[in-house]
Amino acid sequence: EEVDLVELVHQAADAFRAGQTDHPLTVTAGPGPVRLRLDPLRIRQVLDNLLSNAAVHTPAGTKVSAEVAVESGMAVVRVADAGPGIPAADQQRVFDRFYRVDKARSRDRGGSGLGLAVARSLARAHGGTLELTSRPGATTFTIRLPLGRTA
Ligand code: ATP
Ligand code: MG
Repeated sequence: EEVDLVELVHQAADAFRAGQTDHPLTVTAGPGPVRLRLDPLRIRQVLDNLLSNAAVHTPAGTKVSAEVAVESGMAVVRVADAGPGIPAADQQRVFDRFYRVDKARSRDRGGSGLGLAVARSLARAHGGTLELTSRPGATTFTIRLPLGRTA
């Protein structure tokens, strides 16, 4: 199904803002649509997982952002937050099923540790990727999806 990724990100952002008020979210995108074939429910799930993490795993008041762009023939969405970050030693393992950085604290927050594993597999099922960069004050999850695929 051909979908405008900018519109999908705005829909996820609206739902995020409706669901909580203590993490301000800004959305950035170019002037035009970014149209590509994708499963809107699945990619919406990826966006919801990343936005949820940015709120659940950071203190109240932490700024969150979502950016849509086209880079090197790929549609790109970056979901970032200004929270405490993910230690380097954990940055690859957070994509493992059931892996949580701080198990006691994450359990308090109700997570099962599946969100990022599911998000990455959904991105890959679209021929894309989900990657992470993080340092204290700047955590960024980058979704890349191929433009112009026919599947
Ligand atoms: P759920 O299955 O409900 O999503 P979860 O959020 O704990 O549970 P993941 O979304 O897979 O599971 O995230 C794994 C872990 O990565 C989290 O438990 C948390 O420790 C860490 N994490 C994820 N996103 C962030 C973030 N934006 N800032 C800091 N830590 C994060
Ligand atoms: Mg999660």
